[in-house]
Amino acid sequence: MPEKFDTIIVGGGIGGTALGALLAAGGQNLLLTEKNSIIGGRCASYRKDGFTIDVGVHLFGLSDKGPLGEVCRRAGEPDAIEWVLARNPRVAVHRGGRTQPFDREAMMRELEEKSVAPLAEIFARIGQMTTAELDSLWYLPLKSWIEGFTPDRNIMRMFTMLCGIYLCVPPDSASTAEFIICLRDLLQARNSGYPKGGSGIIPQTYQRFIEKYGGTVRLNCPTERIVIENERAKGIVAGGELIEADRVVSNADIKCTVLELAGDEHFPREYVEKVRSLTYAAHVFALKVAIDEVITDQKMIMYTPNLTDEELEEIERQIFAGQAPPVASGMICVPTNFDPGLAPPGKQLVFFGIGTAPHQEWATWEKICLDALKDVFPTIEEHIIWKVTHSPDDIERFAGEKGNVIGVGQTVDQIHEKRPTHETPVKDLYLCSAEAGGHGIGTELAASSAIELADKLLSS
Ligand SMILES: Cc1cc2nc3c(=O)[nH]c(=O)nc-3n(C[C@H](O)[C@H](O)[C@H](O)COP(=O)(O)OP(=O)(O)OC[C@H]3O[C@@H](n4cnc5c(N)ncnc54)[C@H](O)[C@@H]3O)c2cc1C
Repeated sequence: MPEKFDTIIVGGGIGGTALGALLAAGGQNLLLTEKNSIIGGRCASYRKDGFTIDVGVHLFGLSDKGPLGEVCRRAGEPDAIEWVLARNPRVAVHRGGRTQPFDREAMMRELEEKSVAPLAEIFARIGQMTTAELDSLWYLPLKSWIEGFTPDRNIMRMFTMLCGIYLCVPPDSASTAEFIICLRDLLQARNSGYPKGGSGIIPQTYQRFIEKYGGTVRLNCPTERIVIENERAKGIVAGGELIEADRVVSNADIKCTVLELAGDEHFPREYVEKVRSLTYAAHVFALKVAIDEVITDQKMIMYTPNLTDEELEEIERQIFAGQAPPVASGMICVPTNFDPGLAPPGKQLVFFGIGTAPHQEWATWEKICLDALKDVFPTIEEHIIWKVTHSPDDIERFAGEKGNVIGVGQTVDQIHEKRPTHETPVKDLYLCSAEAGGHGIGTELAASSAIELADKLLSS
């Protein structure tokens, strides 16, 4: 008797594993296929010489208070993931040769006198905004909204940086409502953190939930094709074999799902055109070094080189134009200060990530990153045991989507009612990822996509 499942999930990223956990806990007989040998997609971790290294993610906006924790609660194990919050010390900023805490007071101190009042007004408006007012801002670019308060370039640079960190899209296309909701959630929860065991512990925990509730996860198992017959999804082909299900949910790239795995001939022309025209979030290049001593007690440092405002703006322009600048602002994270168990005793992992574009000369970007680390930690080079780099090209090979950071960009033309939905025009074929439905930052966008879809599928 050939196998038949209630649901087959294609892809084991956060969206796929979270949905799998929720559906399995809800009693469904399900199969999840993942093409890689490790679970988690952009949120996976792997081991190297006694260290645990994340493929992508390094900070989770809401930790247990957000959708990632909600999946655990709904799967009946609220404490399955142990979170370490980004406090003691809190996130820092390195500017003008000094590292200091990054908080609202520090932000205000950094600003020129004339910028303080407009920034306070922006934050006050964000805090008091009604749902109706937010609803009117989905399709307004963040840049236009800020310009409605002030022409101040320092304030715009601050929001450009925050928008880049949260949504990974520039403020002239980012949705104001989506940005504000993310920022408000962060300010209210004050709960950004990182899981003990590394980022990959989250999808690994969700995989455990799937198996605990009787579901099946197959690694090293690329779905070759989504089978559509009589205008409905019937199953998948993996390992040359047809596996049937009542429905198929794809956690893979929406473009790959529609144009390649299912085949565009099964969809209306307007839908195919819409999918083809979707744009992704930006890209990041990361240098990750293992060092033989504990060089810092900081967890996260936002690094800005010691340059004038004009020079910094020129660097931003070069990065958005896909060029390598001589130096760059970026984020340093030290995962071993969240969880020392990610390295052998007395050793540290230090990462530096910067915005970039695909298909660059990566040796140049590695040098930019190393120079930034040396600026903050002058002796670091003497202590490096090994270095690895993760470029957008690596991320593309690993998880697809042209190696972008988040998924389909949360831009004014791809948000709210303009965002791809979980449902597709093909009956019983769904999407679940940071590319369909959902709300929030990165992994939380993918997890909220899963929660929304699980609610629909379990109630139908
Ligand atoms: C460098 C970097 C830094 C980031 N930093 C953060 C951060 O600090 N905080 C944060 O919250 N988010 C961060 N993100 C974003 C976050 O990782 C992603 O938004 C999120 O993990 C996307 O999850 P997903 O479920 O949509 O898809 P993905 O993670 O892309 O998962 C899709 C899965 O589908 C699999 N797949 C594809 N095709 C097939 C097939 N044919 N058969 C079987 N399997 C298939 C892939 O192998 C992959 O495992 C970062 C991402 C990157 C790259």
